[in-house]
Parts: sequence; C-alpha cells; structure tokens
Amino acid sequence: MPERFPASLQQKIEDRLRYYEDLGIRLFYTDRGPGSTGLAAQEAVASAPSPTPVFEETALPKSTPKPAPAKAAPPAMHPPLVVPPTGPSLFEAMDKVKDDTLLKIREDLGECTRCKLHKGRNKIVFGDGNPKAQLVFVGEGPGADEDMQGLPFVGRAGKLLTQMIEAMGLQRKDVYICNVVKCRPPENRAPEPDEVSTCSPFLMRQIDSIHPKVIVCLGATAAKTILNTTRGISQFRGEWLEWRGHKLMATYHPAYLLRNPPAKADVWKDLQKVMAELGLQLPKKAKS
Ligand code: SF4
Repeated sequence: MPERFPASLQQKIEDRLRYYEDLGIRLFYTDRGPGSTGLAAQEAVASAPSPTPVFEETALPKSTPKPAPAKAAPPAMHPPLVVPPTGPSLFEAMDKVKDDTLLKIREDLGECTRCKLHKGRNKIVFGDGNPKAQLVFVGEGPGADEDMQGLPFVGRAGKLLTQMIEAMGLQRKDVYICNVVKCRPPENRAPEPDEVSTCSPFLMRQIDSIHPKVIVCLGATAAKTILNTTRGISQFRGEWLEWRGHKLMATYHPAYLLRNPPAKADVWKDLQKVMAELGLQLPKKAKS
C-alpha cells in the first residue's frame, strides 16, 4: 500500500486507531488488516459509476428556476464506513468509554503479549492506588523491584516518590501511580517508540477512568507520551499545562533525583504548585 501520509502522521493515526480498538470501538477500521485496501477501497467505490446520481436535476419542482450550472461537478459522496452487525453502535461505544473502570481495563490488558516487552517480564505492573484519585503520577516503566512485586514505584526511586507524596501531606493510597509501559524494559532501558505506542492506550484509559484533577508526569517519557511532544522536558518542567481537561505538570523522575540530588529542590517547587492546585496545606513538619 503506498504511503499516503508522512510517517509521523501515519503513526499517529495508527496509534489513535489502536486506542479506539482497545476501547472496543471497532467502527473505524473494519477494512484494516492483511489484504485490506483501506482508503484506496473507499476511493475506488466512490469513483465507480453510480447507478443513482448524487444530485438529480429532475427531483427539483418544475416551478423552481433552473439553477446556474455548477462550475465543477460536486464531489461524489463517500459511502459510510461499514458497521459490523455485531459491533456496538457509536452511542454504545461512547457509553463504554464513559463507564470504563480500572478493573475492566485490567481485564482487557489480560496477560498481554501485544509488544516485545512481555518476553522479559515477570509481572505486569498495571498501577496502584485510589481509583478516584485527584492526583495521578505517571512514570516511565517498571524496574526490577516493580517487576518482581507487580507494583509501581517500590524500589529506591519508589521510596523517594513515597517520601515526596508524604511531604505533600498525602499517603500513597490517596493517589494513583502508574507507568507508560506495564512491563519492565530489559536492563531498565527506556521503552522504545513501538512499545510506548502499543501500551500507552491503556494508560490513557486509566487516566480517563480515574479522571483526576491533576496529572504529574515523572520524567520525559511520561510527559512526551501524554503530551505527544518531542520537546525536551526541561522546556516545560514546572509549568502548568492542560491535557484533555486535566491540569498537567511535568517534573523530574525520582530515579533522576537519586543521581542528581540538587534537582530535588526543583521538584519540591513543582509539587508545591500541585498542592496549591489541590488545596493542600503544607504539613507542619515541612514548615520551617
Ligand atoms: S508493555 Fe504493555 S503492551 Fe507491552 S506486553 Fe506489557 S502490557 Fe502489553
């Protein structure tokens, strides 16, 4: 199939279709798959001779003045995409999105083998915390400790994140913590683009389901994935951004803070902005 869009746009379209697929909306890609002609098929149908003209002049009442001849023939109407008879209607699909729950998303994820990260994992690290949290932290992916326990942020970086949460006057059970990818990348490398694009629809569903007031992206991978940007995190770290009706703040990953302790001051400033947004008071022990 010839490439019809720039590669980056094509990738975005594929990611979006995959996201809808994971939501159970299967109205958009019934012509995808091996042997599919996709858009080409629609265009071929549209350009084929039609037994019924789209605009019939004889349908006009006799008394109606004859309209001026059009300069160009109107474009043929594309036939609607075929809705599979057993699939949900669009309204049913939207209800499904509205009623999505973390439990349902976890069931849909299953014992996932959608990307190559499944080969080296011990446990899927789906996410942990309050399903109605006002605050969601999103990291990059599980490390060794998380992979063993099936829980996010339980290693050294996780302990630091816990301290940060407690410094905000909260407990881990008050917030929700998850990652862009749910399986540990080998040697703790950064997840690759195909892994991120395959796994991130589940993250989006998790955020949609929780509907937090604030999302804090921990590190560049989370920020770039959610914001769909290639900008470096240093260009927008600590700034309030808007994402699909949520306030979003990007800050450094706790693992980075372990390597660069002076950056903790920047992160604490960012978290204080989050606290103000959530109406949280500085805990007494943090006042000086
Ligand atoms: S990283 Fe995500 S998409 Fe890849 S196998 Fe694990 S759960 Fe599936």
